[in-house]
Amino acid sequence: MSKKVKIGSCYIGGGEGVKVQSMTTFKPSDIDNTVNQIKLLENAGCDIVRFSILNEDDAKAIKIIKNHVNIPLVADIHFNYKLAISAIENGIDKIRINPGNIGSEDNVKAVADAVKAHNVAVRVGSNTGSIEKEFLSKYGKNEVSLVESALKNVAVLEKHGVNDIVISVKASDVKLMIKSYEYLASKTDYPLHLGVTEAGTEHDGIIKNSIGIGSLLSKGIGDTLRVSLSADPVKEIEAGVSILKALDMYDGFVRVVACPTCGRCEWDCMAFANKVNDLCKTAKTNLKVAVMGCVVNGPGEAMDADLGIAGGKDCAVIFKNGVISKKIKIEDIESEFIKELKNCLK
Ligand code: SF4
Repeated sequence: MSKKVKIGSCYIGGGEGVKVQSMTTFKPSDIDNTVNQIKLLENAGCDIVRFSILNEDDAKAIKIIKNHVNIPLVADIHFNYKLAISAIENGIDKIRINPGNIGSEDNVKAVADAVKAHNVAVRVGSNTGSIEKEFLSKYGKNEVSLVESALKNVAVLEKHGVNDIVISVKASDVKLMIKSYEYLASKTDYPLHLGVTEAGTEHDGIIKNSIGIGSLLSKGIGDTLRVSLSADPVKEIEAGVSILKALDMYDGFVRVVACPTCGRCEWDCMAFANKVNDLCKTAKTNLKVAVMGCVVNGPGEAMDADLGIAGGKDCAVIFKNGVISKKIKIEDIESEFIKELKNCLK
């Protein structure tokens, strides 16, 4: 099991449940827009949010933003060690920084001292665009150079007494990303931040992230994730939460099972499944609901759910906890089933 690292009010690693992250798209000094976006992300299920700190105004905004949101904040900082210290002094919960790009040993020590004094966690990581030259020339661009680059940065922090570390090794090539995290997991017990970097636009990006992040999580690798998409960050959170739900790694949600429909279906099962899905979207109850198109293959799945329906030509059957609950007319599906569903969601 990975080491447990505290990030503000939550933990990453140590079997604490995989945390979903995203990044805001505004400069933190644009406080109103940043706070509003964080609230939207929070509502969508975001556990931890990151933003880029580009100057002192951004760093100072952290203190104000913190007072308006409930989730831990991460400052993404490159090159400027003074900004890292300022972010920490202004109350950031975690910084994303690579010791290798903040200059001299003294700069690294100053950041490490601030990190320790304020109990702040650090994420270090490499991606295919930031592999250290020595590893790139020695190994080429592969999982070894990605991992060795990240671990070199970890070693620098450890040397200065920093141990609350989260590591990432991102690639936009999904197979390389998977191999890199597998290799990293074999070499460290620090918690791992999963992500496919520059995954692309919404549809293809979600697929790439789901394959990369999902296959690692299914093997027990990974403690936090960010689905990176060229899309609204709320979409990143929705996709991250869906990945966790698909792997049964999310507590308190309604799993809606629905058939794809085929020529046997004699009612608008697809529209009804979407309606059921919408009703269940924000529910925090552990429940399995099945919406099935016909009585040929439908009952098996419907019986397997806590609440299920199998539609037919003129009538439909509602199943509860594996047994037939009632037979209803097809025109009553909506009123009858939704009533049952709402009772289950209470
Ligand atoms: S449950 Fe029935 S309608 Fe749905 S896909 Fe299977 S056979 Fe077709």
